[in-house]
Amino acid sequence: MSENIFYRQTHLADRLDEAEKKEAGAYASSYMKFLDAGKTERECVACAVEAAEKAGFVPFVPGTELKPGDRIYSVNRGKSMTLAVIGKQDLSHGCNIAGAHIDSPRLDLKQLPFYEDGEMAMLKTHYYGGIKKYQWVTIPLALHGVAVRADGTAVPVTIGEDDSDPVFMITDLLPHLAADQIKKTAADLFTGENLNVFLGSTPLPEGDDRFKAKALELLHEKYGLCEEDFISAEICAVPAMKARYLGLDRSMIASYGHDDRSCAWAELMAICHIQAPERTAVCILTDKEEVGSDGVTGSQSTAFEFFMQDLCDAQGVSLRRCFEQSFCLSADVCNAFDPNFPEVSEKRNNAKCNYGVGILKFTGARGKSGSNDASAETVGTVRRIFADAGVTWQMAELGKVDQGGGGTIAKFMANRNIETIDAGVPVLSMHAPYEAVSVYDCYMTYKAVKAVYERR
Ligand code: MN
Ligand code: MN
Repeated sequence: MSENIFYRQTHLADRLDEAEKKEAGAYASSYMKFLDAGKTERECVACAVEAAEKAGFVPFVPGTELKPGDRIYSVNRGKSMTLAVIGKQDLSHGCNIAGAHIDSPRLDLKQLPFYEDGEMAMLKTHYYGGIKKYQWVTIPLALHGVAVRADGTAVPVTIGEDDSDPVFMITDLLPHLAADQIKKTAADLFTGENLNVFLGSTPLPEGDDRFKAKALELLHEKYGLCEEDFISAEICAVPAMKARYLGLDRSMIASYGHDDRSCAWAELMAICHIQAPERTAVCILTDKEEVGSDGVTGSQSTAFEFFMQDLCDAQGVSLRRCFEQSFCLSADVCNAFDPNFPEVSEKRNNAKCNYGVGILKFTGARGKSGSNDASAETVGTVRRIFADAGVTWQMAELGKVDQGGGGTIAKFMANRNIETIDAGVPVLSMHAPYEAVSVYDCYMTYKAVKAVYERR
C-alpha cells in the first residue's frame, strides 16, 4: 500500500539503463560544443541556423503553402529565432510550443568604452542581467560581438577564445591592502563603475593618450574599426572558459551560460529530431529574457504573433483560436539544491541535481507576484505527457518562501492566452561566470521537450 501512496523520486543513476546513459553522454558532448560556440544570442542563433538547416529546416517565406511535416524557421534581426514543424492537424487545434532564451548575464561594453589610467588602456562596461559583481573579477574574459560601421557594414569581433588569443581581466585588490574593502558588504564590494576591463599597457611612441591610442591601433589593424565605430556596436565581455566536465565521475558540466542554453539546446535538438507531429511544434529561442523580455527581440515582442499569424494565414485559421488551443513549455533553468547553502531552500520542494527536469508551477516573488501560476489542470497535463514518454521529472521551487525569486518568459506566453508552464534544468551557481548542471538532467530536459512536441 505505502508503495503506491507515497510520491517517491529516484536518482537518475539508479533509473536510467546503460543505453540511455550512453545517449545522455553523447547528448552532453554535443551540448558542450554548442556552449563553446554560442556565448552571445547572435552566436547561438548562428549555431541554431546551422543545426536546423542540417536537419532540413528552411527559411519561412510568408505566403507560402504549409504541409504537414514542413520544417521552417525565421530569424528575428539575428538575435532571436522561431522554428516550426507543421503538424498533421491544422493550427485551429493549437500547437505545442517550447520557449527558451539564448541571452545570458554578461558585461556589455559602454558606447564610449576606451580610456586610459595609470598608463593602462581600459574598457568601461555596463553589466547586462542579474550578476553578483564580485564574481566577474580576476577571471579570464573574452570579447564577443559586432560593430556596425556608419555605412551599415557589420564587423564581427571575437578575441579570447582561440588558445593563441590573449584574454582580458578585471583586477581586484590584493588582500594586503584590502583592510577597508573587506569590510564592505558583497553588494558594495564592486560597483558597476568598478567593472573596468584591462585592455593593454603598451604606449604609442608619441601623442596624447598613448596607451588608449595603442589599443585602438591594434583593434584597427585587426578589424579596421575606429573609436567611433564602437558607438554602434554590441560587444560584451564574457567568461573565456570553455565548457568542461565537472567532478571525478564527469556527472556534471561546468560552463558559462547554462541559463538558458541548456534548455535552448534541448529544444533545438528536440525539434530537429521530430518528423510529422500531430500538432504543429514550435521552438522559440528568445533574447532579452535576462533584462525583462522587452524590445523587438524579446518574448514580449509582437514578432512572435507575426510569425504565428503568418502560419495561421497559410492555413486560413484564426490566430486567437490557435493560441487558445496551444500549450507552451517555458523551458528555463531553476536552482538546484546546493549543500553549501541549504538555508535558502525548502528541501522537500527544491529541485535536486540528477532527479530530472524541474517543473515550476509558479515563479515570481513575494507571494508568487509577477508569475504565471500554472493551473492544477496544466500541471496534470505535463505529468501525463512526461509519464507517457518516460520522462523523469521533479517539482521545483525557486528557494524558500520570501527568500527571493525570479521570473521567466512564462507569463508573457500565458498572457497571450496560451496554457503555459515552466520547466527546465536545475543549475548550481546560476548567473555566475561558471555554472554547473547535471548531464542526466540536460538529457532529460531534451526528452521532456520532445515529449511535448510529440504529444497528441
Ligand atoms: Mn533563465
Ligand atoms: Mn537567468
